Amino acid sequence: MTNLYQRSEEPLNTWKEKNDFLDDQWRDTMRDWPACQQTEQGERVQATRSLFGNPVTIIDPHTHSDHSDGRCRIPQNRDAGLRAGIDIVFATDHNSLTQKRAVKNIPSMSWGQEPKTLHHHIGLLGNTRRLSTRRDRVDLDMERARKLAPFCWIPHPAGWFTKDYTDEQKNELWRLAPAFAMEVINGAKRIGRAFERHDAEAVILWDRLLTDGIRVTPLGGSDAHIPEGIGSCWTGLPGAELSVDEVIDRLNAGNCLASEGPLLSLHVEGREMGSRLAVREGQPLHLTCRVADAAGLQSVHVVSDGKAERTLYPRDKKLVEDEWQFVFSGQRYVRLEARACDDRRAFSAPVYFDVETGC
Ligand SMILES: [Zn+2]
Ligand SMILES: [Zn+2]
Repeated sequence: MTNLYQRSEEPLNTWKEKNDFLDDQWRDTMRDWPACQQTEQGERVQATRSLFGNPVTIIDPHTHSDHSDGRCRIPQNRDAGLRAGIDIVFATDHNSLTQKRAVKNIPSMSWGQEPKTLHHHIGLLGNTRRLSTRRDRVDLDMERARKLAPFCWIPHPAGWFTKDYTDEQKNELWRLAPAFAMEVINGAKRIGRAFERHDAEAVILWDRLLTDGIRVTPLGGSDAHIPEGIGSCWTGLPGAELSVDEVIDRLNAGNCLASEGPLLSLHVEGREMGSRLAVREGQPLHLTCRVADAAGLQSVHVVSDGKAERTLYPRDKKLVEDEWQFVFSGQRYVRLEARACDDRRAFSAPVYFDVETGC
Protein backbone atom coordinates (compact mmCIF):
# COMPACT_ATOMS: atom_id res chain seq x y z
CA MET A 1 0.00 0.00 0.00
CA THR A 2 1.25 3.50 -0.80
CA ASN A 3 2.55 5.48 2.09
CA LEU A 4 0.01 8.27 2.31
CA TYR A 5 2.60 10.60 3.81
CA GLN A 6 5.22 10.27 1.14
CA ARG A 7 6.19 13.52 -0.43
CA SER A 8 6.36 13.85 -4.16
CA GLU A 9 9.95 14.07 -5.45
CA GLU A 10 9.13 16.78 -7.97
CA PRO A 11 7.01 19.84 -7.25
CA LEU A 12 3.56 19.54 -8.78
CA ASN A 13 2.89 22.70 -10.68
CA THR A 14 -0.46 22.54 -12.36
CA TRP A 15 -3.88 21.58 -11.10
CA LYS A 16 -3.89 18.68 -13.56
CA GLU A 17 -0.58 17.37 -12.22
CA LYS A 18 -1.82 17.71 -8.66
CA ASN A 19 -5.10 15.97 -9.43
CA ASP A 20 -3.41 13.12 -11.33
CA PHE A 21 -1.08 12.64 -8.36
CA LEU A 22 -4.03 12.55 -5.96
CA ASP A 23 -5.95 10.13 -8.19
CA ASP A 24 -3.01 7.72 -8.24
CA GLN A 25 -2.83 7.88 -4.45
CA TRP A 26 -6.54 7.20 -4.15
CA ARG A 27 -6.39 4.20 -6.48
CA ASP A 28 -3.67 2.64 -4.33
CA THR A 29 -5.56 3.34 -1.13
CA MET A 30 -8.84 2.00 -2.46
CA ARG A 31 -7.34 -1.40 -3.28
CA ASP A 32 -7.42 -2.26 0.43
CA TRP A 33 -10.89 -0.92 1.04
CA PRO A 34 -13.70 -3.46 1.20
CA ALA A 35 -16.90 -1.90 -0.14
CA CYS A 36 -18.99 -3.11 2.80
CA GLN A 37 -16.91 -1.27 5.38
CA GLN A 38 -18.82 2.01 5.23
CA THR A 39 -22.05 0.15 5.92
CA GLU A 40 -20.38 -1.65 8.84
CA GLN A 41 -19.29 1.73 10.21
CA GLY A 42 -22.88 2.94 9.92
CA GLU A 43 -24.12 -0.13 11.79
CA ARG A 44 -21.60 0.51 14.53
CA VAL A 45 -22.73 4.11 14.83
CA GLN A 46 -26.36 3.02 15.16
CA ALA A 47 -25.53 0.30 17.71
CA THR A 48 -23.45 2.80 19.71
CA ARG A 49 -26.31 5.30 19.67
CA SER A 50 -28.72 2.73 21.15
CA LEU A 51 -26.20 1.78 23.85
CA PHE A 52 -25.52 5.42 24.67
CA GLY A 53 -29.22 6.07 25.19
CA ASN A 54 -29.09 9.88 25.03
CA PRO A 55 -30.21 11.21 21.64
CA VAL A 56 -27.39 12.50 19.42
CA THR A 57 -27.36 14.13 15.99
CA ILE A 58 -24.29 13.26 13.94
CA ILE A 59 -22.93 15.61 11.30
CA ASP A 60 -19.96 15.69 8.96
CA PRO A 61 -19.16 19.41 8.73
CA HIS A 62 -16.37 18.98 6.17
CA THR A 63 -16.63 17.22 2.77
CA HIS A 64 -15.71 18.06 -0.82
CA SER A 65 -17.44 17.34 -4.11
CA ASP A 66 -16.96 18.04 -7.81
CA HIS A 67 -17.81 21.66 -7.01
CA SER A 68 -14.11 21.88 -6.09
CA ASP A 69 -11.42 19.19 -5.91
CA GLY A 70 -13.64 16.32 -4.71
CA ARG A 71 -13.95 13.22 -6.85
CA CYS A 72 -17.69 12.77 -6.39
CA ARG A 73 -21.06 14.31 -6.94
CA ILE A 74 -23.21 15.72 -4.13
CA PRO A 75 -25.83 12.90 -4.22
CA GLN A 76 -23.05 10.28 -3.92
CA ASN A 77 -21.81 12.02 -0.77
CA ARG A 78 -25.35 12.05 0.60
CA ASP A 79 -25.70 8.28 -0.02
CA ALA A 80 -22.31 7.64 1.60
CA GLY A 81 -23.38 9.72 4.61
CA LEU A 82 -26.53 7.65 5.00
CA ARG A 83 -24.52 4.41 4.81
CA ALA A 84 -22.04 5.68 7.42
CA GLY A 85 -24.76 6.77 9.89
CA ILE A 86 -24.28 10.53 9.40
CA ASP A 87 -27.45 12.62 9.79
CA ILE A 88 -26.27 15.76 7.97
CA VAL A 89 -23.38 16.03 5.48
CA PHE A 90 -22.13 19.56 4.74
CA ALA A 91 -20.62 20.14 1.29
CA THR A 92 -17.82 22.59 2.05
CA ASP A 93 -16.07 23.07 -1.28
CA HIS A 94 -13.10 25.37 -1.50
CA ASN A 95 -13.64 28.50 -3.52
CA SER A 96 -17.14 28.11 -4.89
CA LEU A 97 -20.60 28.37 -3.41
CA THR A 98 -22.37 26.56 -6.26
CA GLN A 99 -22.70 23.61 -3.83
CA LYS A 100 -25.28 25.69 -1.95
CA ARG A 101 -27.68 25.44 -4.91
CA ALA A 102 -26.79 21.78 -5.46
CA VAL A 103 -27.73 20.66 -1.91
CA LYS A 104 -31.01 22.55 -1.92
CA ASN A 105 -33.90 20.07 -1.68
CA ILE A 106 -31.56 17.18 -0.81
CA PRO A 107 -32.50 15.98 2.68
CA SER A 108 -29.57 15.26 5.00
CA MET A 109 -27.32 17.70 3.10
CA SER A 110 -26.32 21.27 3.75
CA TRP A 111 -23.51 23.54 2.62
CA GLY A 112 -20.53 25.63 3.62
CA GLN A 113 -17.16 26.62 2.20
CA GLU A 114 -13.47 26.02 2.94
CA PRO A 115 -11.25 28.78 1.56
CA LYS A 116 -7.57 29.32 2.39
CA THR A 117 -6.35 32.03 4.68
CA LEU A 118 -2.73 33.07 5.29
CA HIS A 119 -1.47 29.58 6.22
CA HIS A 120 -4.52 27.79 7.54
CA HIS A 121 -7.88 27.06 5.96
CA ILE A 122 -11.17 28.43 7.30
CA GLY A 123 -14.35 26.38 7.39
CA LEU A 124 -17.71 28.13 7.12
CA LEU A 125 -21.15 26.58 7.52
CA GLY A 126 -24.29 28.09 6.02
CA ASN A 127 -22.64 31.19 4.57
CA THR A 128 -24.92 33.48 2.61
CA ARG A 129 -22.22 34.58 0.17
CA ARG A 130 -18.93 33.19 -1.05
CA LEU A 131 -15.98 34.28 1.09
CA SER A 132 -13.00 35.67 -0.79
CA THR A 133 -10.23 35.63 1.77
CA ARG A 134 -7.50 38.27 1.72
CA ARG A 135 -4.99 35.85 3.28
CA ASP A 136 -3.46 38.67 5.32
CA ARG A 137 -4.02 37.25 8.83
CA VAL A 138 -6.00 34.31 10.14
CA ASP A 139 -7.96 36.43 12.65
CA LEU A 140 -8.81 39.08 10.04
CA ASP A 141 -10.06 36.48 7.56
CA MET A 142 -11.96 34.77 10.40
CA GLU A 143 -13.64 38.10 11.17
CA ARG A 144 -14.69 38.38 7.51
CA ALA A 145 -15.91 34.75 7.54
CA ARG A 146 -18.01 35.34 10.66
CA LYS A 147 -19.82 38.20 8.90
CA LEU A 148 -20.99 35.78 6.19
CA ALA A 149 -21.53 32.55 8.10
CA PRO A 150 -23.31 31.67 11.36
CA PHE A 151 -20.52 29.19 12.23
CA CYS A 152 -16.82 29.04 11.33
CA TRP A 153 -13.89 26.87 12.36
CA ILE A 154 -10.27 25.99 11.62
CA PRO A 155 -9.87 22.65 9.80
CA HIS A 156 -6.77 20.42 10.30
CA PRO A 157 -4.96 22.94 12.58
CA ALA A 158 -1.68 20.99 12.72
CA GLY A 159 -1.56 19.91 9.06
CA TRP A 160 -3.03 17.26 6.78
CA PHE A 161 -1.84 14.73 4.20
CA THR A 162 1.69 15.85 3.28
CA LYS A 163 1.33 19.33 4.80
CA ASP A 164 2.82 20.03 8.23
CA TYR A 165 2.26 23.45 9.73
CA THR A 166 5.33 24.95 11.39
CA ASP A 167 5.17 25.91 15.08
CA GLU A 168 5.00 29.53 14.01
CA GLN A 169 2.00 28.81 11.79
CA LYS A 170 0.26 26.85 14.55
CA ASN A 171 0.93 29.69 16.98
CA GLU A 172 -1.07 32.05 14.76
CA LEU A 173 -4.18 30.36 16.16
CA TRP A 174 -3.62 32.24 19.45
CA ARG A 175 -4.85 35.30 17.51
CA LEU A 176 -8.33 33.71 17.54
CA ALA A 177 -8.71 34.21 21.31
CA PRO A 178 -10.94 34.28 23.31
CA ALA A 179 -12.86 31.49 21.56
CA PHE A 180 -13.03 29.53 18.31
CA ALA A 181 -13.67 26.03 16.97
CA MET A 182 -11.18 23.69 15.31
CA GLU A 183 -10.97 20.11 14.12
CA VAL A 184 -9.20 17.74 16.50
CA ILE A 185 -9.90 14.86 14.11
CA ASN A 186 -9.58 15.37 10.35
CA GLY A 187 -9.91 12.52 7.86
CA ALA A 188 -8.23 14.05 4.77
CA LYS A 189 -6.88 11.29 2.51
CA ARG A 190 -8.10 8.67 4.95
CA ILE A 191 -10.82 6.10 4.62
CA GLY A 192 -12.13 3.92 7.40
CA ARG A 193 -10.12 5.56 10.19
CA ALA A 194 -9.18 9.19 10.52
CA PHE A 195 -6.88 9.61 13.53
CA GLU A 196 -3.21 9.93 12.61
CA ARG A 197 -0.18 12.00 13.62
CA HIS A 198 -1.70 15.34 12.56
CA ASP A 199 -4.69 14.67 14.80
CA ALA A 200 -2.44 13.68 17.70
CA GLU A 201 -0.64 17.01 17.17
CA ALA A 202 -3.99 18.82 16.95
CA VAL A 203 -5.01 17.41 20.35
CA ILE A 204 -1.71 18.59 21.90
CA LEU A 205 -2.25 22.03 20.33
CA TRP A 206 -5.84 22.03 21.63
CA ASP A 207 -4.71 21.39 25.22
CA ARG A 208 -2.12 24.18 24.95
CA LEU A 209 -4.75 26.65 23.73
CA LEU A 210 -7.20 25.56 26.44
CA THR A 211 -4.54 25.77 29.15
CA ASP A 212 -3.89 29.36 28.01
CA GLY A 213 -7.56 30.09 28.72
CA ILE A 214 -8.78 30.09 25.09
CA ARG A 215 -12.10 28.31 24.65
CA VAL A 216 -11.77 25.90 21.71
CA THR A 217 -14.67 23.75 20.51
CA PRO A 218 -13.52 20.39 19.04
CA LEU A 219 -14.86 19.08 15.72
CA GLY A 220 -14.44 15.91 13.70
CA GLY A 221 -14.61 16.38 9.92
CA SER A 222 -13.91 13.69 7.33
CA ASP A 223 -12.55 16.18 4.73
CA ALA A 224 -13.64 13.45 2.29
CA HIS A 225 -12.71 14.00 -1.35
CA ILE A 226 -14.26 10.67 -2.37
CA PRO A 227 -17.53 9.26 -0.94
CA GLU A 228 -15.66 6.38 0.73
CA GLY A 229 -13.95 8.88 3.04
CA ILE A 230 -17.23 9.87 4.68
CA GLY A 231 -17.76 8.22 8.09
CA SER A 232 -14.05 8.15 9.06
CA CYS A 233 -14.85 10.75 11.74
CA TRP A 234 -17.69 13.10 12.61
CA THR A 235 -19.13 15.59 15.08
CA GLY A 236 -21.91 14.63 17.52
CA LEU A 237 -24.40 17.03 19.11
CA PRO A 238 -26.82 16.28 21.95
CA GLY A 239 -30.43 16.12 20.72
CA ALA A 240 -32.44 14.01 18.30
CA GLU A 241 -32.82 14.92 14.64
CA LEU A 242 -31.60 18.48 15.03
CA SER A 243 -32.26 20.94 12.20
CA VAL A 244 -29.29 22.70 10.58
CA ASP A 245 -30.11 25.85 12.60
CA GLU A 246 -30.17 23.84 15.83
CA VAL A 247 -26.86 22.18 14.86
CA ILE A 248 -25.29 25.60 14.36
CA ASP A 249 -26.65 26.81 17.72
CA ARG A 250 -25.10 23.79 19.48
CA LEU A 251 -21.78 24.30 17.69
CA ASN A 252 -21.71 27.97 18.69
CA ALA A 253 -22.44 26.95 22.29
CA GLY A 254 -19.50 24.51 22.06
CA ASN A 255 -21.88 21.72 23.00
CA CYS A 256 -20.52 18.83 20.92
CA LEU A 257 -18.01 16.00 20.61
CA ALA A 258 -15.53 14.91 17.95
CA SER A 259 -15.35 11.20 17.26
CA GLU A 260 -14.41 8.32 15.02
CA GLY A 261 -16.40 5.76 17.06
CA PRO A 262 -17.31 6.30 20.73
CA LEU A 263 -20.09 8.58 21.95
CA LEU A 264 -19.57 10.48 25.17
CA SER A 265 -21.07 13.14 27.38
CA LEU A 266 -19.64 15.12 30.26
CA HIS A 267 -21.33 17.20 32.96
CA VAL A 268 -19.73 19.17 35.78
CA GLU A 269 -22.14 20.32 38.49
CA GLY A 270 -24.89 19.37 36.06
CA ARG A 271 -23.58 21.77 33.37
CA GLU A 272 -23.00 20.32 29.91
CA MET A 273 -20.05 20.36 27.50
CA GLY A 274 -19.21 23.88 26.32
CA SER A 275 -20.47 25.52 29.55
CA ARG A 276 -18.56 28.09 31.58
CA LEU A 277 -18.75 27.44 35.27
CA ALA A 278 -18.05 30.11 37.88
CA VAL A 279 -15.99 28.46 40.62
CA ARG A 280 -14.08 29.33 43.78
CA GLU A 281 -10.69 27.99 44.86
CA GLY A 282 -11.21 24.88 46.98
CA GLN A 283 -14.78 24.32 45.78
CA PRO A 284 -15.75 20.63 45.49
CA LEU A 285 -17.01 19.79 42.00
CA HIS A 286 -19.07 16.84 40.87
CA LEU A 287 -18.36 15.37 37.44
CA THR A 288 -20.48 12.77 35.66
CA CYS A 289 -19.76 11.09 32.36
CA ARG A 290 -21.25 8.55 30.04
CA VAL A 291 -19.31 6.80 27.26
CA ALA A 292 -20.43 4.11 24.82
CA ASP A 293 -19.04 2.16 21.88
CA ALA A 294 -20.59 -0.95 20.39
CA ALA A 295 -17.06 -2.24 19.66
CA GLY A 296 -16.11 -2.03 23.37
CA LEU A 297 -14.07 0.56 25.27
CA GLN A 298 -10.38 0.41 26.05
CA SER A 299 -9.91 3.57 28.13
CA VAL A 300 -11.65 6.72 29.33
CA HIS A 301 -9.69 9.76 30.51
CA VAL A 302 -10.75 12.90 32.30
CA VAL A 303 -8.26 15.52 31.10
CA SER A 304 -7.58 18.83 32.78
CA ASP A 305 -4.92 21.38 31.72
CA GLY A 306 -3.30 18.82 29.41
CA LYS A 307 -3.04 16.05 32.02
CA ALA A 308 -5.15 12.92 32.49
CA GLU A 309 -6.54 13.43 36.01
CA ARG A 310 -8.57 10.24 36.08
CA THR A 311 -8.32 7.12 33.88
CA LEU A 312 -10.68 4.18 33.67
CA TYR A 313 -9.97 0.89 31.92
CA PRO A 314 -13.39 -0.56 31.12
CA ARG A 315 -11.99 -3.95 29.94
CA ASP A 316 -14.01 -4.01 26.72
CA LYS A 317 -17.26 -2.93 28.36
CA LYS A 318 -19.50 -1.16 25.86
CA LEU A 319 -21.00 1.39 28.24
CA VAL A 320 -19.28 3.30 31.05
CA GLU A 321 -21.01 5.61 33.51
CA ASP A 322 -18.80 7.34 36.03
CA GLU A 323 -18.99 9.98 38.73
CA TRP A 324 -16.06 11.79 40.25
CA GLN A 325 -15.71 14.37 42.96
CA PHE A 326 -12.73 16.71 42.78
CA VAL A 327 -11.61 19.96 44.32
CA PHE A 328 -11.16 23.04 42.15
CA SER A 329 -7.57 24.25 42.33
CA GLY A 330 -7.08 26.64 39.44
CA GLN A 331 -7.73 24.34 36.46
CA ARG A 332 -8.82 26.11 33.28
CA TYR A 333 -11.04 23.31 31.94
CA VAL A 334 -11.92 19.66 32.11
CA ARG A 335 -12.65 17.43 29.10
CA LEU A 336 -13.33 13.77 28.42
CA GLU A 337 -11.47 11.48 26.00
CA ALA A 338 -12.22 7.84 25.15
CA ARG A 339 -10.64 5.06 23.12
CA ALA A 340 -12.52 2.08 21.74
CA CYS A 341 -10.98 -1.40 21.65
CA ASP A 342 -9.87 -0.80 18.06
CA ASP A 343 -8.25 2.49 19.16
CA ARG A 344 -10.90 4.76 17.64
CA ARG A 345 -11.06 8.02 19.63
CA ALA A 346 -13.62 10.50 20.85
CA PHE A 347 -13.19 13.89 22.54
CA SER A 348 -15.81 15.88 24.41
CA ALA A 349 -15.94 19.65 24.30
CA PRO A 350 -14.57 21.00 27.60
CA VAL A 351 -16.40 22.50 30.53
CA TYR A 352 -14.52 25.75 31.28
CA PHE A 353 -13.81 27.22 34.70
CA ASP A 354 -14.09 30.94 35.44
CA VAL A 355 -12.61 31.82 38.80
CA GLU A 356 -14.84 33.96 40.99
CA THR A 357 -12.70 36.55 42.69
CA GLY A 358 -15.52 38.30 44.68
CA CYS A 359 -14.69 39.88 48.04
ZN1 LIG B 1 -8.41 22.07 4.09
ZN1 LIG C 1 -11.17 20.19 3.15
